[in-house]
Amino acid sequence: MTAPVVRFAPSPTGRLHIGNARPALLNALFARRHGGRFILRYDDTDLQRSRAEFADAIAVDLAWLGVRPDLTARQSDRVALYDAAAERLRAAGRLYPCYETEDELDRRRKRQAARGLPPIYDRAALRLTDEEKRDLEAQGRRPHWRFLLEHRSVAWDDLVRGPAHVEGASLSDPVLVRHDGGYLYTLPSVVDDIDLGVTHVIRGEDHVTNTGVQIQIFEALGGPEAVPLFGHHNLLTTASGEGLSKRLGHLSLGSLRERGMEPLAVAALAVLVGSAEAVRPVRSLDELAQLVDIARLSRAPARFDEAELEALNAKVLHGLDYADLADRLTAAGVTGGEAFWLAVRGNCAVFSDVAVWKGVVEGPCAPVIEDAAFADAAAALLPPEPWTDQTWGEWTKAVAQATGRKGKPLFMPLRLALTGLDHGPELKALLPLIGRPRALARLAGQAA
Ligand code: GLU
Repeated sequence: MTAPVVRFAPSPTGRLHIGNARPALLNALFARRHGGRFILRYDDTDLQRSRAEFADAIAVDLAWLGVRPDLTARQSDRVALYDAAAERLRAAGRLYPCYETEDELDRRRKRQAARGLPPIYDRAALRLTDEEKRDLEAQGRRPHWRFLLEHRSVAWDDLVRGPAHVEGASLSDPVLVRHDGGYLYTLPSVVDDIDLGVTHVIRGEDHVTNTGVQIQIFEALGGPEAVPLFGHHNLLTTASGEGLSKRLGHLSLGSLRERGMEPLAVAALAVLVGSAEAVRPVRSLDELAQLVDIARLSRAPARFDEAELEALNAKVLHGLDYADLADRLTAAGVTGGEAFWLAVRGNCAVFSDVAVWKGVVEGPCAPVIEDAAFADAAAALLPPEPWTDQTWGEWTKAVAQATGRKGKPLFMPLRLALTGLDHGPELKALLPLIGRPRALARLAGQAA
């Protein structure tokens, strides 16, 4: 494959949520896997609803996921291109003016429904004479413009779904230009895909019908060679099968980040559910890119389960090496370095849990002493430093011999005294990090 060019094209009308992360990542990972380029394109022709803050937040959310576009484009900067394309379509007789109001169209659709007909635009505007158009304009009506579809089958080999087709005759001629001259999404997207050299359009299966329409526009503007490849992925749903909408604020990438979810966990789940691969932790986006083959995505809805994300988040953390998050540990004020991370990572469900273990290792930590005599006996047997990961074994063996205890009655009081908790990382790893002075103080019942 020659280097592909793909794009993710959100409308900046809200925050990205886990459902949008799927096309964003499927595109970005596809570019990574095939050595291609990834474009972020803001579909912001709807000036009422598009907001610069949302565009900025989208860039921040993508960067958090580890996705950095090779190019960022804004449709609002590119209107001259759309004007030129619309002019060419008009000249070719493929874009025609229509004067119906929304109400008129609505009434027409109701009449069609009453007669059992599909709600397809009847092309009445094509039959208007020049004089009738002038009259309508004299009454103050401004035309909107529809693309004249060819009534034929449009077929493509879908990268995800295999052979696909849409019947031109089953669709209304799409409105490309609104009566105020503004563009709906359909035409700008095609113009940009041609202009920016997009080779693969990977997007949700809610766009299958658009693809039938847009292929005809690609052909009208640039001939058959202008048509990119298309792949329509299954959509994420909630665990109970409902569609994800922008209103699901708690599944926005921003709130998942605030809840301490790791970007790699979010990314892995966003693309691995509903794929041929089992959901599993990954250590990098490169690793994830190698796992995801869009040709092998499932056709069934991909169910997103928050509990699964939490479990995956813990697994991702457990698999990260010190080097992967040394900066974050330093920023969290942890001084124990690699030994600390290796000791505690298996006990962190979210990164912020390191604070608990930092407290245990560095203090202050309030010990729990249930049997002071036993704690004193154990303290008296603490070996001199330097301590290694053998120290715990040697020490507890000595304590067992001296006190006759074994198993839980031996280990649990020591854990409670040394950490204040009845659960946690292996003490063989923690003990050298806690160190002798703090261990002695805690065994004596002092917070240290
Ligand atoms: N702005 C469109 C959307 O968010 C883009 C669809 C496409 O990828 O062409 O649905």
